Amino acid sequence: VLSLVGSEMCIRDRIYPMQTEVEGEANAIIRIEDITEQRKIEEQLIRADRLSSLGQLSGGIAHEIRNPLASINLFTDILCDKDKYDRPDQELELFDEIKENIVRIEQIIKRVLDFAKPPVTTTAEIDLNDLTRENVKFWSSKLKKSKIKLNLNLNNGLPPVQADVIGLQQVINNVVLNAIEAMAEGGNIDIRTALGKSSVNVNNHAVILSVSDTGPGIRTVHQEDIFNPFFTTKASGTGLGLSISHQIIQRQGGDISFKTSPEMGTTFSIELPAADSKNKFPDRPFLESGDGET
Ligand code: ADP
Repeated sequence: VLSLVGSEMCIRDRIYPMQTEVEGEANAIIRIEDITEQRKIEEQLIRADRLSSLGQLSGGIAHEIRNPLASINLFTDILCDKDKYDRPDQELELFDEIKENIVRIEQIIKRVLDFAKPPVTTTAEIDLNDLTRENVKFWSSKLKKSKIKLNLNLNNGLPPVQADVIGLQQVINNVVLNAIEAMAEGGNIDIRTALGKSSVNVNNHAVILSVSDTGPGIRTVHQEDIFNPFFTTKASGTGLGLSISHQIIQRQGGDISFKTSPEMGTTFSIELPAADSKNKFPDRPFLESGDGET
């Protein structure tokens, strides 16, 4: 059995030698099989196995984080109590930001705990452009610190996606933070949105959000592993960001993929089915990104 594993397609050749009546002559049957799908399923099963260990581990971690987080929440409430302290509006705004972030951490802990359980996600129609704009404030200080320029190229004519807003926010954040961390010496991040064909179901439209960086790219030896839980090349990394993102996007009928090279940097593409795409946009031409805002 000979296996030829290409970057996108996986082919298996089987050669069956046959004896013939004629001396000195040999025949053979060669069977060529496309086993790309089979390989993908095998990889997903291995990943699912690792994810179940992740579920057990996350229960312990979440429990440890929840208690101190509840204390931080309580003390923040006390500190912004208007009857006890007379604070300027500027300070109160900062406390609001802290509270908002505490809520986000609580939601993320819940996500991680739900990770190994069957999906019970609540979905809503989401405008990916709005969601992206809302998240920019969470990246601004890191962008500034790393001298990174962020360009938004958001296509205005996009249909909404049917997705879980917290999960999606988590995915976009993971991908953008990875891009920032890949460019310690500065660079550019381009976030684009566009309408395209779904790679999961070719008859449907998909909304695609791509995040491109001008970092060093992902080394060839690491490319197979980056969606695996606990795979990290960072000293303080957890290796959970992309595996969780992959799980979230797959549960919502979408896909997450990447293209990378040392010269061009890395582009992660998050693809989600357009809400009710079959009925709502049957003859709509695909929009190329590029005519949106920058
Ligand atoms: P973590 O960020 O904790 O390492 P992730 O699962 O988010 O975990 O990422 C796994 C690995 O994928 C990273 O450690 C890094 O090696 C690689 N990676 C992800 N995004 C990028 C990127 N934009 N550029 C280069 N490497 C990346």
